Amino acid sequence: MHYAETIVDLVGNTPLVKLNRVTDGIAATVLVKLEYLNPGGSAKDRIATRIIDAAEREGKLKPGGTIVEPTSGNTGVGLALVAQQRGYRCVFVLPDKVGEDKRNVLTAYGAEVVVTPTSVPPDHPESYYSVSDRLVSEIPGAFKPDQYSNPNGPLSHYETTGPEIWRDTDGLVTHFVAGVGTGGTITGTGRFLREQSDTVRIIGADPEGSVYSGGTGRPYLVEGVGEDFWPTAYDPSVPHEIIAVTDAEAFAMTRRLALEEGILVGGSSGMAVVAALQVAKDLPADAVVVVLLPDGGRGYLAKIFNDKWLRSYGFSNAPTGHTIANLLA
Ligand code: PMP
Repeated sequence: MHYAETIVDLVGNTPLVKLNRVTDGIAATVLVKLEYLNPGGSAKDRIATRIIDAAEREGKLKPGGTIVEPTSGNTGVGLALVAQQRGYRCVFVLPDKVGEDKRNVLTAYGAEVVVTPTSVPPDHPESYYSVSDRLVSEIPGAFKPDQYSNPNGPLSHYETTGPEIWRDTDGLVTHFVAGVGTGGTITGTGRFLREQSDTVRIIGADPEGSVYSGGTGRPYLVEGVGEDFWPTAYDPSVPHEIIAVTDAEAFAMTRRLALEEGILVGGSSGMAVVAALQVAKDLPADAVVVVLLPDGGRGYLAKIFNDKWLRSYGFSNAPTGHTIANLLA
């Protein structure tokens, strides 16, 4: 019989698939790594496993302990999944702007959720930051992973994502492209690949306006990537280049990936593919570009995949496919 002992054992070893349509006119091979096929639906399952393993080893997390983290997204899901398997309690602090669906995913895995008002300044006692700090100090046995500074985030990608890409491309990868949020993915994966090859190029994709591509943190709509500060999980010496991508470009590509490639992913995936194609268009046929797609598109149905939402932000270039309405028009 061939089966996994627990769901956590299925984290990682995600497949690569070639892009065939959005790469029209490009000679190089462009492969995407589908992180939504992790059990919790994102690349963050990888860091959750490694962060909890390390905390146990270092005695920061003991049986019956509680994981407290301000997170609304994929990291929360990853942590909740691993915590549940190992009998830890999870308390996540979320700002009230986070949608009900995202909250419900966390509670479905057994996490507790504390909702804080978005409209108060960071030093207010009810703010996202103040509440999570207070919970950590008041809950006995509390452990705060802090994905922005935890070295086990990049390390998990150094130990798993990088080696998987090297193995699955038979060492032929020439370019690696990933979006930058905490910076853990690009730092860990990029560092591993650079150690294997002197010629591999590591390229970060960043929302236009974020600090990594020289911005000041100006708002953008794509989720999970870009920052207004420099986290220590990010090593700026790893990427050779950072490419800024606009929301409009990222969302249009996200829609095309679903429509033309059958790959339903989130906006940061579309963003990474835009950057990858920019690089790939000038490359020869023997180049192999690997792009990491961090999560799936189900969490964005009401936003990126909703024409009305896109139009409300002035994005009108979303491909809509051949709907009955189009044919009759
Ligand atoms: N995309 C999404 C949807 C994410 O949640 C994250 C994590 N913040 C990233 C991309 C970026 O990954 P990293 O934090 O490793 O830079």
